[in-house]
Amino acid sequence: MNNVMTDKTKLQHPISADLFERARQVIPGGVNSPVRAFRGVGGTPLFIQSARGATITDADGRTYIDYVGSWGPMILGHAHPEVIEAIRAAALRGTSYGAPTELEIELALEVIDAFPSIEKLRLTSSGTEATMSALRVARGFTGRPKIVKFEGCYHGHGDSLLVRAGSGVATLGLPDSPGVLPEVALNTITIPYNDPTAIESVFDQIGSEIAAVIIEPVVGNMGCVAPREGFLQAVRRITEKHGAVLIFDEVMTGFRVARGGAQEVYRIRPDMTCLGKIIGGGLPVGAFGGRSEIMDVVAPVGPVYQAGTLSGNPLAVTAGLTTLRLLKSLDPYPALERATKRLVEGIGRAAHESGWRISSNRVGSMFTGFFTPDAVYDWTGASKSDRKAFARFFHAMLEKGVYLAPSQFEAGFVSMMHDDSIIDRTIEAARMAFNRI
Ligand SMILES: *Cc1c(COP(=O)(O)O)cnc(C)c1O
Repeated sequence: MNNVMTDKTKLQHPISADLFERARQVIPGGVNSPVRAFRGVGGTPLFIQSARGATITDADGRTYIDYVGSWGPMILGHAHPEVIEAIRAAALRGTSYGAPTELEIELALEVIDAFPSIEKLRLTSSGTEATMSALRVARGFTGRPKIVKFEGCYHGHGDSLLVRAGSGVATLGLPDSPGVLPEVALNTITIPYNDPTAIESVFDQIGSEIAAVIIEPVVGNMGCVAPREGFLQAVRRITEKHGAVLIFDEVMTGFRVARGGAQEVYRIRPDMTCLGKIIGGGLPVGAFGGRSEIMDVVAPVGPVYQAGTLSGNPLAVTAGLTTLRLLKSLDPYPALERATKRLVEGIGRAAHESGWRISSNRVGSMFTGFFTPDAVYDWTGASKSDRKAFARFFHAMLEKGVYLAPSQFEAGFVSMMHDDSIIDRTIEAARMAFNRI
């Protein structure tokens, strides 16, 4: 399939194909983040020239309806005029100072206003830095070594988080990548998502060694998977009982599934929260925060070291602050909910009419259609999807002018600029794609 697809994309996107050849000479795999490389669907990646509203345009001059949204941040749509103007104005005042600014206080206050569980936070430049730092803080705070994560949840590429699960209830970690030391991975325990008995059993065995449980409260990184009724409550109850820090990784869900993230939707108060993506409004910002008691172990108040030359960068913070303020004043969440429901139901109908049985998950404006007839609520379920069918669907949609994430195991994102006519064009494209694949 790969070769056929490669030839096809080359013919249809000659400039992208040429750029990819050049990129591969100097950048590993031609990309600066692996999933961009189209390995999950075959063919070669599109190189993007520009983006506006709900669409992106590639180097060959083709325009697509975009459901990647830079993997989540672009909830207002691409190149929102107010965000762009704010960045332009900020740039004229200088791009970086390496000293504190009032903007950072304002962004912190905006986050705290949306997330009552956060009393103090620190800004980073990526979600990965936020999760890595949160783990260090949790270990420093508790004095305990071990971390519990869930199979299929992604928390960035930090060493202790790049660990896969094996079989069994509590599989002691094996590194997912060469270069991650087994002795580091050994301190990460991976258990299945949506299974309260698994976490109960780990804590029964070694509860006093566990510093933190880190979780995507709504998963985006095995495709969109929602927590089952009572699951997050069980995680909260067990961590509290054993004095482990509960970290909600809301890098994707923060300001996405609701202004106050999944913790607002499911009414859970974690001890710490990681943010990223939307809080940078398309520029690099991450954050970790939580109760003051915990955050005050961070240097220079406490002994846990964490730093960043460009952390709180004025351009990035300006883009984030403008985005968060627009989200507060516009409150697009009810409209996003309606639009995404319309999209997912429409695609489901189109699939059904062509005899495809897909299983659709959606929370707010995050969605995934899995090519499996069975409901998906964990990694085992997600991995039963027919990836070859997804790959054919992906390419058929691309030909019809719709840009989906190039992997079955990624969430799609709807922005404020995806109006009904764009949604209906997408459903029509899906109808044709399902008929063809
Ligand atoms: C994207 C993501 C990260 C990593 O953020 P980066 O900015 O890519 O480092 C961490 N956790 C979750 C849940 C994410 O979706």
